[in-house]
Amino acid sequence: MKGVVWQGAGRIGVETVPDPELLLPTDALIRVTSTAICGSDLHLMDGVIPSMERGDLLGHEFMGEVIEVGRDVKKLRVGQRVVVPFNIACGLCDPCRRGLFSACDNSNPNHRMAEALYGAVSGGGLFGYSHLYGGYAGGQAQYVRVPFADVGPFVVPDGVKDEQVLFLTDIFPTGYQAAENCGITPGRDVVAVFGAGPVGQFAARSAMMLGAARVIVIDRLPERLEMAARGGADTLNYELEDVLIGLQERTGGRGPDHVIDAVGLEAHGHGPGALADTVKQRARLTFDRITALRWAIQSCAKGGTVSMPGVYGGLVDKMPMGAAFAKGLVFRMGQTHTHRYLDPLMKRIEAGDIDPSFVITHRARLDDAPRLYQTFRDKQDHCIKVVLDPWA
Ligand code: NAD
Ligand code: ZN
Repeated sequence: MKGVVWQGAGRIGVETVPDPELLLPTDALIRVTSTAICGSDLHLMDGVIPSMERGDLLGHEFMGEVIEVGRDVKKLRVGQRVVVPFNIACGLCDPCRRGLFSACDNSNPNHRMAEALYGAVSGGGLFGYSHLYGGYAGGQAQYVRVPFADVGPFVVPDGVKDEQVLFLTDIFPTGYQAAENCGITPGRDVVAVFGAGPVGQFAARSAMMLGAARVIVIDRLPERLEMAARGGADTLNYELEDVLIGLQERTGGRGPDHVIDAVGLEAHGHGPGALADTVKQRARLTFDRITALRWAIQSCAKGGTVSMPGVYGGLVDKMPMGAAFAKGLVFRMGQTHTHRYLDPLMKRIEAGDIDPSFVITHRARLDDAPRLYQTFRDKQDHCIKVVLDPWA
């Protein structure tokens, strides 16, 4: 089959690789019909997250048709059309039973290695997301093996198109969880969203669905701010305006009641040449990630929530902890517990509350993945979200 592979930092390729097979009786095989590139894939592309190996298959946002199930799979059947959460969860361990699916104890055999090598606990397994997260093959491919097939895959009702439900695999639940974590008081609270990438777009729309009186989205890319504005948000361009003053002015001096950092490691300035000098790159990443999170903390109203869907790893220094302490802020963060949200958000889509396909700007063949990774990373051609067709 064809698949998108990591060929070393900054190098993405499409290669012919062996078809996946069932390894355990609880596995299923999926024929992938749609798959997307995520901001999280950029951390892998740029080599910011260690422990990728040459030839590893990328991709954690995918859906398709079930073509084979192991003998212990009870619920899922061949022929069903499914979306698959990006996190792999056993459904049985203590975290899974508490709904903390992304912290599954049994889906990431390399969890301890991550701790020993990098001093970082990496959480549960993820599709196509390095050996730190279990080394599972990703779904930017024609076929993918799905472990714990009775737990993750969610059967899609007839009548909804792939593009309407594909983002249930990650960015829609991720934006929604980020907004939910704010504990929005409907009709009163103002929410600021830093980063108008796909995650920020869904965080902004979710905050509105949860009743935010106003949502303000901060970025520097006009096309992304325009997309947020079309969804009903106010916008602030941090290259044209001072963020802290701008947010104060828009909130009567109080600051936003809650802030969402949908930037994480995704530094502005990521781009051609970013890999030329690792030390310089690291410095810039540190500076940029601190900037978004610092702005978030510094702008937030007293008693507010700092919600962080943006991915962080390793150490983050120079946080204005004094401000956070003085204002009594609450921090909530982490990988999304995607499984929790599949059913309720599918209902939102069916009810017409949101059509997640609004975020798609580029549709392409899997063969074009290397070029589109570049386009998406460098924010060229007004690219916001790329969907790939493995069979075109
Ligand atoms: P993206 O790169 O498309 O978007 C990031 C946006 O942030 C860009 O538009 C960029 O211009 C903007 N930005 C950069 N610096 C900024 C700053 N200082 N202030 C405001 N905006 C700034 O990525 P994405 O796909 O939207 O993903 C965003 C983050 O969410 C990434 O870190 C990704 O890994 C993470 N993510 C987390 C989860 C989870 O489970 N928690 C799931 C998916 C993605
Ligand atoms: Zn993703």
